[in-house]
Amino acid sequence: MSGQTPKSSTIDTVLEEQRVFNPPERIKETAHIRSYEEYKELYDYSIKEPEAFWAKQAELVDWIKPFKKVYEGDLVEGEHKWYLGGKLNVSANCIDRHINTWRKNKAAIIWQGEKRDETRVLTYNELYNQVCRVANTLKKWGVNKGDRVALYMPMIPELAITMLACSRIGAIHNVVFGGFSADSLRDRINDSGARILITADAGFRRGAYIPLKDNADKALEGCPGVHTCIVVKHTGADINFWTQRDKWWHHEINSPDISSVCPPEAMDSEDPLFILYTSGSTGKPKGVMHTTGGYLVYTSLTMKYIFDLKEEDTFWCTADSGWITGHSYVIYGPLALGATTLMYEGLHNYPNPDRLWQVIEKYRVSIFYTAPTIIRGLMKEDEEWVKKHDLSSLRLLGTVGEPINPEAWVWYHKVVGNEKCAIVDTYWQTETGGVIITPLPGAIPTKPGSAAMPFFGIEPAIVDSNGEECDSKDGGSLIIKRPWPGLMRGVYNAPDRFRETYLTMYPGNYFTGDGARVDEDGYYWLLGRVDDVLNVSGHRLSTAEIESALVSHNKVAEAAVVGYPHDIKGEGIYAYVLLKNNAKASSELRAQLGQHVRKVIGPVASPDKIHIVEQLPKTRSGKIMRRILRKIASGEFEQLGDTSTLSNPESVDELIKTREE
Ligand code: ATP
Ligand code: MG
Repeated sequence: MSGQTPKSSTIDTVLEEQRVFNPPERIKETAHIRSYEEYKELYDYSIKEPEAFWAKQAELVDWIKPFKKVYEGDLVEGEHKWYLGGKLNVSANCIDRHINTWRKNKAAIIWQGEKRDETRVLTYNELYNQVCRVANTLKKWGVNKGDRVALYMPMIPELAITMLACSRIGAIHNVVFGGFSADSLRDRINDSGARILITADAGFRRGAYIPLKDNADKALEGCPGVHTCIVVKHTGADINFWTQRDKWWHHEINSPDISSVCPPEAMDSEDPLFILYTSGSTGKPKGVMHTTGGYLVYTSLTMKYIFDLKEEDTFWCTADSGWITGHSYVIYGPLALGATTLMYEGLHNYPNPDRLWQVIEKYRVSIFYTAPTIIRGLMKEDEEWVKKHDLSSLRLLGTVGEPINPEAWVWYHKVVGNEKCAIVDTYWQTETGGVIITPLPGAIPTKPGSAAMPFFGIEPAIVDSNGEECDSKDGGSLIIKRPWPGLMRGVYNAPDRFRETYLTMYPGNYFTGDGARVDEDGYYWLLGRVDDVLNVSGHRLSTAEIESALVSHNKVAEAAVVGYPHDIKGEGIYAYVLLKNNAKASSELRAQLGQHVRKVIGPVASPDKIHIVEQLPKTRSGKIMRRILRKIASGEFEQLGDTSTLSNPESVDELIKTREE
């Protein structure tokens, strides 16, 4: 009986998404890579001749001293090193090398505040002056090469400036997302051993203040090592100010003893650049460490080819710089290539659901990069919010963070992109430094819901639970078989944790923790976290696919599917469903949704319980927190675990109250 013997350790994948979109002609004509053949040739070369390939790509970066060896190490012990012996400086690559060219007066950072009339533009020259001043200020307050600096800031230019200032003097930044609580901040400061914190008086959120300095004060009560706190005056909110410890940013950097020249430190390629904690979707966040040379080469390379970046582009990545996406694609990637990057402080739906479209129109943004959670959130609104803006400047649209449901992809393509833009669904992680699976906009036809193909130098495989490479069409665990320059070097303060967490499950390989399948054309379909895979009557089902089936119903905006113990099937399917704004919950609709999933995937995937909800619990980076949804579905309310990384903790009680019995 199938209910007793698990059929196989691979994942049943039955969702058929047949639509294929060729690269738009106007993109193909000008893209850095213009055909599938060109991609394939370079990809094969990157795998067969990694040393030559990565040596060549290092030309994207300015080296103070050339490297002697391209790489060393493997994924057995996990010690891998790149560009050995090379010296460089990240801030010099992001700034100095541009100011000696016509880019000196080009906009490096365009900042849009939450208030419409709050905007600032920093040219590369201005960025240079400010970064040098901040770097000198950090030195004045005792920061040396190798020291850690904690940042807890809103999305304002000072955040980028401080990160660059750290990299200029070889200090290791540890950016803590401004939406985190005092406790989370305290733990991250202490884990990194930072002795200085840079923050702001407050940030804006829906017209109200996020009390950053108040939170920092609370956090610092538990951080005896921190002697200095530099505060940016951003909102003008009332704050406590302890002159012995606290310094105003504007006083410090404009002080007469601070020079606007600060020579960049020659850093070793393998010197740490930053520590960043993962977003905590699956449990306790890990302090992921990235180093200098490999990270910069990898972010520059992905930036250039995946986003097809051109000199005249205005690039907007909506991620907060408290996340890896904001490190690699708001700051380091775009600035290393001398682009104009847009930083936005506000939310996607404040004051209205057309806020993003209005900003795109205002700055004539050409490349736009956001997350499925935001796309689904805006998709539930009336299309008129999009239609009333001129979005014709857009050429390329990107997404990252979760699997994108095909319906959301198609909406992005049609309504936002007006069927004229390339879409890149980019798969990656804090640990991977930059994108690892993605379409290339001028070269690889796209299929909605698929992240397409491995980027150069990335060698993925699909394995079953015995670690054997299996028929990848069946789905299984996604691993990467060799290191690449952007891959993390370690977990800060925990020398064995990198190997233990990522390399022991499938020895000699990097385990992503995600499930995937590969279709007959070689396209990767991410199926969600391996821990979330359901085992229903011996069938292993992907949560991502059932969710996509639900979202393809015209009344559904968002869905989250989890398993719960079921006497007969082993695991039952519990679906949390958020409706579009114009839809009403009813038992007929619930029955219809069940039918719909049967039709799209098959009877085995039809949810046993459908819970129509007002809100889904999300991490502060906007991901659905399935770990908690699983506990609620199973009735284990006492064991919800750490909820501190949730952005809407109140949603949990509501879900418990309205749970489907
Ligand atoms: P933690 O590791 O602390 O649980 P996290 O995994 O959410 O948190 P991130 O590094 O921000 O932290 O997210 C990486 C994860 O996001 C991936 O492992 C994958 O599950 C998901 N992801 C990112 N981009 C995509 C994508 N394009 N398609 C599918 N899944 C994606
Ligand atoms: Mg993760």
